[in-house]
Amino acid sequence: MPDELLERLRRFHEQTFPGIQDQFQDLVAHGQHPHILFIGCSDSRLVPYLLTGTGPGDLFIVRNVAAFVPPHDGMLPAPSGDISPEGAYLGAARRFTGYHGTAAAIEFAVLSLQVTHIVVCGHSHCGGIRALYEGVPRGAINLEAWLDLGREAALPVQVSPEALRRTEQRAVILQLERLMGYPMVRERVESGQLALHGWHYVIEEGEVHVFDVRSGQFVPASSATHSGTGPYRDSPVFNEIDESYRPQQA
Ligand SMILES: [Zn+2]
Repeated sequence: MPDELLERLRRFHEQTFPGIQDQFQDLVAHGQHPHILFIGCSDSRLVPYLLTGTGPGDLFIVRNVAAFVPPHDGMLPAPSGDISPEGAYLGAARRFTGYHGTAAAIEFAVLSLQVTHIVVCGHSHCGGIRALYEGVPRGAINLEAWLDLGREAALPVQVSPEALRRTEQRAVILQLERLMGYPMVRERVESGQLALHGWHYVIEEGEVHVFDVRSGQFVPASSATHSGTGPYRDSPVFNEIDESYRPQQA
């Protein structure tokens, strides 16, 4: 059986690389200096370089299921089962959520690379977001736990294309909020050194919809006036948006 992957590796080395060798040697000699941390879903249809017209050295990328951001201290609120009907916590209020490459990448990008933009990019037809409603395959215990980072974005409604799209967008905002829980992110956002961008990529339209905090909407890039809003946490508008994007009480 032909080894297709090996063929591709050889083709890259022999045919593609010679044309871009100078660029890579320059990036090695002078190091990487990307300005953008791109946190995107692992979905194969989301291609960050295509969307942003970028290439080698331009994006520091971390991808995971559904483009989630873990809390900086690794702690999440207790699951609802640990909360009494009156809303009081029963037992441990918070729990450790494990090791996270995504959190490490955020720290490295901000503190070492000193990126000036962080993009959180969800997308249409996201299997991770759908799994919030439909569950995960048996045995996927890590996936099940990982989805906890998006549960707050899920709506108490029957799953539908509209509900999924709204959840995909709400999840992006939730991750932006969590990013602001990283001290090095908050500090730089507040001093104007770092901008946060919430994106929802609609695969079938080939268009990114960017979050606009003033309207509380995701606006198609074709009619947007900016590439995503931030900082926003301390703006009076944010609290309204925050409320409107909170899941309804079931
Ligand atoms: Zn996805």
